[in-house]
Amino acid sequence: MTIDPVTMLPPYRIKVVEPIPFLDAGQRREAMASAGYNPFNLRADQVTIDLLSDSGTGATSADQEAAAARGDESYAGARSWFRFREEIADLTGYPHVLPVHQGRAGERVLFGALLKPGQICVSNTHFDTTHANVELVGAQALDLPCPEALDFDSPAPFKGNIDLDRLAEVLAGPDGKRVGLVLMTITNNGLGAQPVSMANLAAAADLARRHGVPFFLDAARFAENAWLVSRREAGYQDWTPRAIAVRAFELADGCVVSLKKDGLSSIGAFIGLRDADLHARCEANLIATEGFSTYGGLAGHDLERLAVGVREVLEPAYLQARAAATARLAQMINDAGVATVQPAGVHALYLNAGRLLPHLPAERFPGHALACQLYLDGGIRCAELGSLYLGTMDDDHRLVRPAPFELVRLAIPRRVYAEEHLRYVAAVLGEIAKDPEQVTGYRIVSAPAVLRHFKVRLEPLR
Ligand SMILES: *Cc1c(COP(=O)(O)O)cnc(C)c1O
Repeated sequence: MTIDPVTMLPPYRIKVVEPIPFLDAGQRREAMASAGYNPFNLRADQVTIDLLSDSGTGATSADQEAAAARGDESYAGARSWFRFREEIADLTGYPHVLPVHQGRAGERVLFGALLKPGQICVSNTHFDTTHANVELVGAQALDLPCPEALDFDSPAPFKGNIDLDRLAEVLAGPDGKRVGLVLMTITNNGLGAQPVSMANLAAAADLARRHGVPFFLDAARFAENAWLVSRREAGYQDWTPRAIAVRAFELADGCVVSLKKDGLSSIGAFIGLRDADLHARCEANLIATEGFSTYGGLAGHDLERLAVGVREVLEPAYLQARAAATARLAQMINDAGVATVQPAGVHALYLNAGRLLPHLPAERFPGHALACQLYLDGGIRCAELGSLYLGTMDDDHRLVRPAPFELVRLAIPRRVYAEEHLRYVAAVLGEIAKDPEQVTGYRIVSAPAVLRHFKVRLEPLR
């Protein structure tokens, strides 16, 4: 028998469904124009397939909803808190756990207690809110991705790794004394959803420890990283994803984890710590700004869904089905003539818009143009990761320094879309790829001073 259900099927069936809207081409054109050609300004009921983010957008399970019904909403010492803490302690091994409402709140509380103004936080790549929270406490965020990370066609298995030579140089160099934290993002969301190997984590941890610098994980996708390690890293083929995730947390002094991704829930996060003194400092800030330390801005029913979610997410059959769905979508898109960042990760695919649309220079925002076209042609919402998001503009919103790449991120919500939905996405892209010169560029009409991509308004150049 060569047909194996475990490798062919997602390990669940659908119990509750949500309708998706269908708009005609005229309605989509109107919706896009009134959104100022910015997908962030679209209403959800104007979007047929929503690939804007994998954060908080997943489907929960029957077990999670059953657990939520037991949510204990006591202000202090709720039963739900103890169930949550036990699950997190079992996964991470950290004696101190602080709940927070989402990852960036955890970053603010942790960095406020751990980093001093003038210090440096070194990472494989800081996520955007992580970068912002490092700088908000007066420290400096330094990214040291491995050299192959920016070669989008390279099939190297662990392009999320930190550059160990550069890390060693920085720690031993004149700025070494200023390094207050080494923070590894698993998987590397900022750079193509690429995983970090266990060997790289262990070596970075060892370097940090030898220089007396705390070593932490930003582990929003701890389960997906563990899955890719089990597939790609020698010596881990016989490990369960759970055993790999446990080992990753063991290598670190603590973590900050957004549970809106691998927590399989719409809200939640936590800080995990070994150090009792650091815990006390974080807890004081947490109580003042997030909530009492047994709920941290979350409802009891959220804590219950999370306690079940962090266990479900490490089930091999679930991870295998999710990784396979993303890989199949990548294959369909590549077959349609659109390049994606290689190799495919799990939570998102990154389209190489710069290569597909060479007739559009960076100042016409090819990534953004492709994201808009996916909506105009197919009602598909996604976000640019290129010069609109990362480029430098002058006061008249003209691009003066482009981003090093022009990508579009298709984020895949967990347990939400079926194979047909993804095949449809590939089909719409395939149509665009048949006649890419049809895709028009864009010009900025107005833009806010900070976090431009969320509120910018544009117009097409015909
Ligand atoms: C989402 C994310 C965060 C921030 O978490 P939120 O829950 O969105 O505040 C931090 N780091 C990484 C790697 C993330 O993906």
